Amino acid sequence: MSFVSHVECTVCGHRHDPKRLLTVCERCGQMLAARYDLGRVEAAVTKDALRRRPPGMYRFRELTPLDEREEPVTLGEGSTPLLALPRLAAHLGMRRLWAKDEGQNPTGSFKARGLGMAITRSRTLGARGFVLPSAGNAGGAAAVYAARCGLPCAVIVPRGTPAAAIAEALIAGAHVFTIEGSIATAGKVVGKVAPQLGWFDLSTLKEPYRLEGKKTIGLELAAELGWRMPDVLLYPTGGGTGLVGIPKAYEELRAMGWISGALPRFFAVQAEGCAPVVKAFADGAENTAAWENPTTHAAGLRVPSPFAGRQMLRVLRDTRGGAVAVSETAIQDAQRLVARVEGIWTAPESAALVAALTVLRDRGDVTRDAEVMLVFTGIGFKYDPPPLAPPIDLAGSDEEILAQVRRAVGA
Ligand SMILES: *Cc1c(COP(=O)(O)O)cnc(C)c1O
Repeated sequence: MSFVSHVECTVCGHRHDPKRLLTVCERCGQMLAARYDLGRVEAAVTKDALRRRPPGMYRFRELTPLDEREEPVTLGEGSTPLLALPRLAAHLGMRRLWAKDEGQNPTGSFKARGLGMAITRSRTLGARGFVLPSAGNAGGAAAVYAARCGLPCAVIVPRGTPAAAIAEALIAGAHVFTIEGSIATAGKVVGKVAPQLGWFDLSTLKEPYRLEGKKTIGLELAAELGWRMPDVLLYPTGGGTGLVGIPKAYEELRAMGWISGALPRFFAVQAEGCAPVVKAFADGAENTAAWENPTTHAAGLRVPSPFAGRQMLRVLRDTRGGAVAVSETAIQDAQRLVARVEGIWTAPESAALVAALTVLRDRGDVTRDAEVMLVFTGIGFKYDPPPLAPPIDLAGSDEEILAQVRRAVGA
């Protein structure tokens, strides 16, 4: 038995039995979320006990959907570094700036948390194979966790998906398909193929446990900041798993009395070429509308019609946050800046947060002394780098080489 009391529809509230392999609400088709018996969790674990456990996201086992003796399918996800960014903060004129460096997860992105959790649970509940649409990292992560437990996996990605993510899925033995269009096109195919194959559909938030994996970022953040919350949190938003999952973590910990006060103001960051959440937020809409012709090289942000649009918008409004879109050049500039001043080659998706922070600061939406958390969702190595000056090829005599080096470094 786990500490989950039931699985609830986030729209109509209909309750589902957590012992079943669940997808979406059987009554209204909307997104499900696990609810815990938090009184029992509180009685079962203390902050001190947590601190003594081995690192990783299953440190917070009582706040995950795992059954008592369930063995997770794991590669060591979680316990990623929380890095202070003093040099970037100084550059941006901010005082307290942090990054949760999720690029240091297995698979190089935070998708490891969600897919590790979803594959663990769905395998236990009877899944015999997996299929999902992906912008890249989710497919790679699903493939490696499927390999880890010896089950087959099929991934459908848009053409032009970063090569490293495709290779990651292929080398792990997944069946990889590309398709013209976006993750939305891939998702439609998955919806048709999954029931035919009898494989479990791991599409973003169309089953309840990817959310629980992503939620562990919020649990770690709370513990790592000494059981308090930052003022502002910026999240690079595609399907929104973390944008919904991190506040869920904070709310559960608050209900347990482990943290108190207002949640951080959550800001969704998207690319100008695909910004359905930003548009819906600005329009005061209840839900996102499909974005036509989505384009951005930040692959994880190329999600034109997220399934959980209304749940994301609710978080942004409830926490008095907002949503910002940034340009491709601003993303590339930010990627180079973060690497140069802090040594972190982060993914374009997370670099977008730094570009967005500049906008929010200039607008006065985020003040200089706000404590700001950036969720650095992935590692830069998995993508083509932004334009960089090429290395200088050395040739000639020793003196000529020395002269070339001195000229280049200016010393
Ligand atoms: C998937 C992904 C995102 C978007 O995450 P969602 O939870 O789908 O909003 C951001 N960054 C990277 C690197 C990703 O792989």
